[in-house]
Amino acid sequence: MTVISGASGTGKGTVCKKLLDELPQMFYSISATTRAPRPGEVDGKEYFFITTAQFKTWLDEEKFLEHAEVYGNFYGTPSHIIEEKRNSGVDVLLEIDVQGALNVMKKCPDGVYIFLMPPSLDELCNRIKNRGTESPEVLQRRINAATSEIAMFKKYQYVVVNDTVDAAVDKIKAIITAERCKVEKNLAEFEHFATN
Ligand code: 5GP
Repeated sequence: MTVISGASGTGKGTVCKKLLDELPQMFYSISATTRAPRPGEVDGKEYFFITTAQFKTWLDEEKFLEHAEVYGNFYGTPSHIIEEKRNSGVDVLLEIDVQGALNVMKKCPDGVYIFLMPPSLDELCNRIKNRGTESPEVLQRRINAATSEIAMFKKYQYVVVNDTVDAAVDKIKAIITAERCKVEKNLAEFEHFATN
């Protein structure tokens, strides 16, 4: 399981989309959210768009591996499909916020945790500003939140700078390849070669 996370505005969505184009065998975990779909977003593709009541029911039924509130909306990673895919040996990709990633780390220490870093703080501020039509106060709050999220990068195993999408995707692919080659992930296959 590969978890890509990072501050809001870092370009996680774009990087993950390109990564999935290049690694079509990877299963992308579709989150549930209470936020309204943006133009062009399709239920069941980018997200499962559900009501707050439905979200609370799923939460009570322990259907989420993790969940978080991000800018007033709830987001959650449905757990059963991830378990099913992982058990059948399929690589799974999660694109979630920092709070969510820190929770998944506790539950799944064998996951691969990648922090996507913006090329600079100025660039991140510009991306956040260009995104919405929020008031200066809301913008400042988002920039402050993003700055504290970046400070969490030390908790991750890998840090990848998103200077260009192509370069970031190449680095993530290299990480996934290296992780697949780890001895501990190949023990079952090669155990018979071990002498003691
Ligand atoms: P957006 O609404 O722009 O699609 O996403 C807002 C933030 O929520 C992004 O940082 C995204 O990574 C994060 N996010 C999306 N799905 C999940 C999820 O299932 N869990 C958590 N913790 N964060 C999520």
